[in-house]
Amino acid sequence: METSIINRRDLFIGGGAATVAYMAGSFMPLIAQNTANLGAPSVVQVGFRKQKLGDMEIIALNDGVGRRSLAAEFVRNAPLDQVQAALREQNLPTEYIDIPFTAFLVVSGSRRILFDTGFADNGGPTNGRLMANLNAAGYKAEDIDTVVISHYHGDHINGIRNKAGQLVFPKAKIMVPTVEHAFWMDDARMAAAPEAMKGAFANVRRVLKDIPADQLMQFEPGKDIAPGIKSMAAFGHTPGHSLFVVESKGEKFAYIADLTNIPALFARNPDWQVQFDMDPNAARDVRRKTFDMIVADKMMVGGYHFPFPAFGRLERLGNGFDFKPVA
Ligand SMILES: [Zn+2]
Repeated sequence: METSIINRRDLFIGGGAATVAYMAGSFMPLIAQNTANLGAPSVVQVGFRKQKLGDMEIIALNDGVGRRSLAAEFVRNAPLDQVQAALREQNLPTEYIDIPFTAFLVVSGSRRILFDTGFADNGGPTNGRLMANLNAAGYKAEDIDTVVISHYHGDHINGIRNKAGQLVFPKAKIMVPTVEHAFWMDDARMAAAPEAMKGAFANVRRVLKDIPADQLMQFEPGKDIAPGIKSMAAFGHTPGHSLFVVESKGEKFAYIADLTNIPALFARNPDWQVQFDMDPNAARDVRRKTFDMIVADKMMVGGYHFPFPAFGRLERLGNGFDFKPVA
């Protein structure tokens, strides 16, 4: 039986079910396996959405969607029938979960700052739409001056470099959280990792190799990364998982990356642990704390795995929160 008490040592060094489960975070093989018998998810047709924030503009850029069968381990600490009941109550399918991928572009004066990158051409047939959506929104790859990474899971970093090995945003500086970088770039940790987890370490190296030091810049979570944009430590999903608060003229937008997976399950039930959270208890604590802050400060919120347009507001509902997408 899956246990909800996850030992930190198991996660970071040894084996254990948690590590193996976490590896599903790379998504790619799972998409291929699961879509065969579950049908293909539909990709949004107009995959960009612009939203004003004071003097800035935030643009949601959808990269596509992945479908996976709903297995008992998807939510580690809730019985499958409860998870299915939660989905049914919201008129969602109960045999599978569609997980969208949406990055965010901040347009601020002359700056074009992209948060997370999608898959580029490294994913499955229903991924890799970010560039088309960026173009449709009126921007080219060369216009992006900065790419900011929340954490090193493949669905967030693969779009930095295409399959042919080229950098997708040739003029962009790439900003990464120090703690996240130190964890994944530790060769000893990679060598000690269970076989199933080595692929994630190797993928980080594929994406980041040979990027010159003046183009790959590390930031300390908690520090400002650009005028009006502050990073925040939100460790738990991964060791250095970070989120970002953008502020202009008193209006605030929080890009919360993978603080929660699909909100229908994990905003409604913030104590539920998605199988990809590497330190589920830390992830839960920071999720609750951050949701409270977002509601108290009346921030607009955007999440990488939120249903498109992936922008909206959080409202309290029962013991959790309801995500209300913008109209
Ligand atoms: Zn993710």
